[in-house]
Parts: sequence; structure tokens; C-alpha cells
Amino acid sequence: MTQEKTNVTIIGGGIVGSLLALILGSNGLKVVLVERDSLENLNSRSYDGRSYAINAGSQRLLAALDIWGKIVKDVQIVSEVFLQQGVDTSHPQPFELNFFDHEIANSPIFYMVEDRFLRRVILSEVTNCININHLTKRIVKRQKTVDGGIEITLNDGQSIKAEVAIGADGFPSESAGRAKIKNFSQNYNQSSITGVVRHINSHNNQAFQYFLPTGPFAILPLTGNRSCYVWTIDTNEAKRIKALDDMSFLERLMKVFDNRRGKIELDTPSSIFPISLALADNLVKEKFALIGDSAHNIHPIAGQGLNLGIRDVACLSEILISARRCGEDIGGANVLRRYSKWRTSDILTTALFTDITNKIFSNEDAFLKIVRGISFDFIGKSTILKKILMKEASGLTGDVPRLLQGKNI
Ligand SMILES: Cc1cc2nc3c(=O)[nH]c(=O)nc-3n(C[C@H](O)[C@H](O)[C@H](O)COP(=O)(O)OP(=O)(O)OC[C@H]3O[C@@H](n4cnc5c(N)ncnc54)[C@H](O)[C@@H]3O)c2cc1C
Repeated sequence: MTQEKTNVTIIGGGIVGSLLALILGSNGLKVVLVERDSLENLNSRSYDGRSYAINAGSQRLLAALDIWGKIVKDVQIVSEVFLQQGVDTSHPQPFELNFFDHEIANSPIFYMVEDRFLRRVILSEVTNCININHLTKRIVKRQKTVDGGIEITLNDGQSIKAEVAIGADGFPSESAGRAKIKNFSQNYNQSSITGVVRHINSHNNQAFQYFLPTGPFAILPLTGNRSCYVWTIDTNEAKRIKALDDMSFLERLMKVFDNRRGKIELDTPSSIFPISLALADNLVKEKFALIGDSAHNIHPIAGQGLNLGIRDVACLSEILISARRCGEDIGGANVLRRYSKWRTSDILTTALFTDITNKIFSNEDAFLKIVRGISFDFIGKSTILKKILMKEASGLTGDVPRLLQGKNI
């Protein structure tokens, strides 16, 4: 079998790996994108109810790639967010923290997009990009650095030589393991049940997040009279609830919804995801870099995992494309070190924030309850603090990459 030569090999064609392939491909680099799933499965992946909160930074990147315009009819804006704590959703404590778009920037606080719409549009763009060789139903079995690059061997024996390889194979990442990158990980013993419901009442663009002792419960508006829920609880309990028949599941769900949206009906089957924290101890190795969940797998409590991965993509693509234009080796240690330097602090801060928030809120300690209430009250009365928090969540702080500023690279 002859060896294929390319500029960049990306291992893993999820949303994050595919976005990187698109940006590099549309800026003249040759990319091989290797994905384990078949094209047929990727196209017809069932409607599993997963949805993402997309922040302003990610929205700008998707707009710059002409993806936003193709999904905008399926995008729901969120203009009000209510955070409450309590023993259950029907008995919230008096303190709550609310965010309103008009108080902050007069633009949506964030956007909600269903996985099925976003994934399909990205897939079609990948298929249409002439610089991307999309190899589906293939698994990377081996990777080793060779003179002038890195060689990847697939399960069918095909070998690809690239100047640099990128691990985008999600969590747990085999490509990180092969590159001998270790990770710090922590099991929360929690799982999230997620899905979509139809409801009678209008959601009025409002999102709710309840911090319950068992874990966070979020209700997020979608287009039409529909909402996505993310219900995070102890893993054994989550498995028990997931195994219920539709009628019994809906009854349990109605109790946690506590009539927030009027009568509800299931729009999708529910999915269950184990939740953990895992951080790669290094983002780069010789001729290799990690992006997305393969570099950082974080709690969904603040809806930041994909947004964080999109920021990796914005930074890494800018570095690789600029390096190529300056005639540098795109797999060179100096080039990859720039990526690691740019991303490390944002990744650590976001992971720490989600970890601490989950630990502080998912328990019944009486002292912490008072501290949480006072913090909600304090932040709630300060427009400046609220603005700072919202700016952080938008992904537009620090050294913002060009694509997130709405500019081309
Ligand atoms: C319940 C829940 C709710 C969430 N909500 C939000 C939210 O609101 N907002 C947000 O920003 N984030 C959210 N997230 C996080 C978000 O889902 C992830 O961060 C994001 O999907 C990660 O994408 P990825 O492309 O990095 O990884 P993945 O989606 O895991 O993709 C990895 C790809 O690599 C492929 N692959 C794996 N191994 C190989 C191999 N050896 N060879 C070839 N291919 C391989 C896989 O088939 C897969 O397609 C949520 C997560 C959960 C669990």
C-alpha cells in the first residue's frame, strides 16, 4: 500500500476535529481527517436530544466559517437565565441569581443548538472541502514520529505521513496515550441524563439551572415549544431512571420540571453520559497536539466543554496557518509550544471553575448553603460583577484569537 502524504492528520472527526479540518483546509493546508464512525452513521445519527449552549465566541467562529447561516433557523436564543438552589425544584431557596440580556449587552446571553443540526451541517462542509480527505470507518492504530513528521497507521493497514498530527478523538483519548501524554482525572460518580421535551407553555427564551444536593438540573429553551434538559445525578440512580419505561420516566421528569413549562411530553429518547474531569498534563508532544475533549473533559454544569474545544481550534488554526505563511515547520516544537502557552491558562481556569461550582453546589452542607445564598445575593445586586461573569462565559476575554473576533486568519 502506498503511503499518503499530507500537511496535517486529524485523529477524530467529532465537531471539534471537523471544525479544525475545515479551517485548515479552507486556508490551503492538505488535511486527512480520520473518523471511527461510518459516513452513513454520521449522517443518520439518531435524534438523541443532545443540545449545546453556544457562547458568543463560538457563534462568531461558526459565522466566519459560513456555518451559522445554515443552522440559524434551528438556533434558539437565550435572553434570561435563572439560577436557583434548593432541596428540590419545587422548594427553591429565596436567593436566586438572574441574568437578563438587557442588563448586560443587549445581545443573547447564549444560543442553544441541537447536536443533530450542527453536526450535519459541519459534515456536509467537510465533504465539500477539496483539501480534506475524510476517511471514515477507520481507526488509528499506531502513530510514530519519523524524519520530518509523524506517521499514522490505520486499522486497514494504510499509512499517512503528515508534518503534524492532532488528537481530537474525545475522552478517553487513545492518541494522547500513544503520545505518552498522561492525564489528571477524577470520577464524579455522576451521570447526566439529557433529552428534549415538548411543552404547552412558551419558554419565553428563559433558561433555568437548579443546584440540587444530588447535582445540577438545567432546562434550556429550544426552537418551538421545546426544551432540552440536563439532569445530573449519582450514576447508579441515573442508570435506574434511564431504564424506566417512557411513562414512568416522564413522571419522574415532570417532578423535577415542577411545572416550569406546563405539561410536558417526551420529544426524544433520553441519553446518558458519565461525567468526569480529565485534563491532559501536556497539550503537545513531538509533532503532535491535543484539542477538544481529548485534552480536557469537564463537567457540563456550565455548558462550556464544546466552547472550550472551539477556542482550541481557533488558536491552533491561527498558529498553524500563520506558521505556514512564514515558512516555519508547522510541526516544529516552537510552533506547538505557542499553542500550549496560549491555551493552558484558559483550560485550567474553566476546568477549575466547573469543578469547584459542582463541588460547592452538589451537597447539603448547612454552612455552604448560607455562603451560596449570600454569594447569589451579592452578585445579583452588582451589575458590574454580573457583566464580568457574562464576559468570561462568552469566551471573549484574554488574548482572543482572530476567528473569535469575527476576523479572518
Ligand atoms: C450532557 C452533556 C451536555 C453538554 N452540554 C454542553 C453545552 O451545552 N455546551 C458546550 O459547550 N459543551 C457541552 N458539552 C460538552 C460537549 O459535548 C463536548 O465537549 C464536545 O462534544 C466534545 O467534542 P470533541 O469533538 O472534542 O469530542 P467527541 O465528540 O468525543 O468526538 C471524538 C471523535 O473521535 C472519534 N474517534 C475516537 N477514537 C478514534 C480513533 N481511534 N480513530 C478515529 N476516530 C476516533 C469518535 O468516533 C468521535 O467522533 C456537554 C456534554 C455533555 C455530556
